[in-house]
Parts: sequence; structure tokens; C-alpha cells
Amino acid sequence: MSDEFGTTAWGRDWLRLAEPTSIIRPDPALPRARSLARNDRVHDLDATTGLIEATVRDRSRHRVRITVPIWDEPLLAKARTVLADQPVGGDLNDSVHTALKQAGLTLAPDPATRTATCDCTSRKDPCVHLLATYVEFARRLDERPRLALVLRGLTTSDTPGEITRIPLGLVEVATFYGTP
Ligand SMILES: [Zn+2]
Repeated sequence: MSDEFGTTAWGRDWLRLAEPTSIIRPDPALPRARSLARNDRVHDLDATTGLIEATVRDRSRHRVRITVPIWDEPLLAKARTVLADQPVGGDLNDSVHTALKQAGLTLAPDPATRTATCDCTSRKDPCVHLLATYVEFARRLDERPRLALVLRGLTTSDTPGEITRIPLGLVEVATFYGTP
């Protein structure tokens, strides 16, 4: 996997959650979060409708859970219309992201409506495990932009292209059964 995060517009949405541009002083936890993601310490990342779950192996294992509101029916219908206009079999490249945005669909979860929890005892919000999960999810989106749509409530049949092989469960079997 690439060491770079947020190489597409889809991934950048989530990288921005970890690294908001409005922050004047860089979060000292960020380099550590990136390092956790880069060293594949974010395991069992699973993205389904409205929910992302992951296990982050830091000094011990921590369970991260992020919920994102799904689009209501009018928004879903709008998204389907935009996607139907895309070339059949085409990739979900940055221009599709732009087209959705222009139609008024926000792919990036609004911090106000998102909930994110981690079972660690850190009082920092977000903790380094949450940050690492954002970064890792950004990388997953760079590879599979469809996950951004599935997260918002679209089904596999709504998205053009490889509709039969959407990796909803991104469980990494090798690490899932590994020792802590
Ligand atoms: Zn944590």
C-alpha cells in the first residue's frame, strides 16, 4: 500500500478530519497517528452503511467506532442521478467527487453530526487512535472511493463500475487472527 494518504479528493475528505486546515498549531498526536496507519496498526477496518469500525494496535488494542449520518431519500436519489450520468464502467475519479459536490452532496462527514468513540482512556478528543483511523480510512478511500458512497447509504448497485466486487468487509484476516 502507498505511504501517501489523501491522494484523491475522496481520501482528502477524511484526511481533513484528522488534519483540519483551520488548526494553527499542528496537533502533536498527528505524526504518531500517521505512523500507526503507515505501519498497518489500524486493523479490521470495516466500513458499512453509516458506520466505520476498526481496531488500532497501539501499546494495547483499542476499538474505534465512527458513525456518520446516512443521506435521506431525496439526497440518495440525487446521488444516484449524478452517478447515472457517469460513463458506464468508469472509475469514481475526482471529477465524480466534484459532480456530487456540485449537486449539493457533501461526502465528508460534518463534525457536528458525526460521532466517534474509542475505548482508550485518553482525554484528548480526538485521541490518537481516532486520528489514525481517519488517516487509514483516507487511504482506503483513495483505493476504493465507493466506500464513501456506501457509508452514506448507497448500495453497491447504485455505483457504476465493478458493482459485483465491492469490498465491504475489509477485514485483514492475517492480522485479525494474530496475537495482540
Ligand atoms: Zn483512543
